[in-house]
Amino acid sequence: MDNTMIPVSEQSEQDLAFMAEACLLAEEALNAKEIPVGCVLVHDNKIVARGRNRTNEGRNATLHAEFDALRHLLPDRTHALTPTLRRPFTPQHDDPPVEPTAAVEAAPVENKSRKIWETPLKGVVLYVTVEPCIMCASAMRQVGIEKVIYGCANDRFGGCGGVQSIHSDPRLLYSPPYSAVGGYLREEAIMFLRRFYISENTNAPKPKKKANRVLKTEIAEVTPSRTGSPATEASSGAE
Ligand SMILES: [Zn+2]
Repeated sequence: MDNTMIPVSEQSEQDLAFMAEACLLAEEALNAKEIPVGCVLVHDNKIVARGRNRTNEGRNATLHAEFDALRHLLPDRTHALTPTLRRPFTPQHDDPPVEPTAAVEAAPVENKSRKIWETPLKGVVLYVTVEPCIMCASAMRQVGIEKVIYGCANDRFGGCGGVQSIHSDPRLLYSPPYSAVGGYLREEAIMFLRRFYISENTNAPKPKKKANRVLKTEIAEVTPSRTGSPATEASSGAE
């Protein structure tokens, strides 16, 4: 694993405040019997979208918190909360004609002789309680997220160092890398997951019998190397 975990003493109050907002959404997910992961997208120091895991509610395995938030910004640009954000997706046949703007016509950025196009979520920071999975880490890269700040590492599915390093992999040539750091309200994020996994997951195809479970409250420290998560961050995988 190659997670970059920031020591609590180096975390800014503002980052922690946004992560606290993400935790509220994780709690909402927990109350809705979803795997408790929550997130907010922040642009110009303002929250422009909130999301939480809705995979059960939506009967949609891709409806992770990040996609839930993203859909508020991307599919319907007429309701985009941040007019400077641009739409990344393949134009659809029923799209209204796009007025060319300076932003849309932004020149490609040269990067080691490869062209990388400016992307719509440039300047947007994702705060998410659990390290994004590989799918979400890739989506964030494709929409050009500026930075990802997460709570606990995800050593089963993580795409920002936990399993793969989608955020920084130099082989992905056509979308810019982003920085991803964790450790923000990490213990809270882990406890949300533990509280979920200690209760019966009634949405699972075959609910597992977990009669004698005890909610563990000790959480191992992040290793001094600032990488990796001791044992399993959440004792069960997230997402
Ligand atoms: Zn995900």
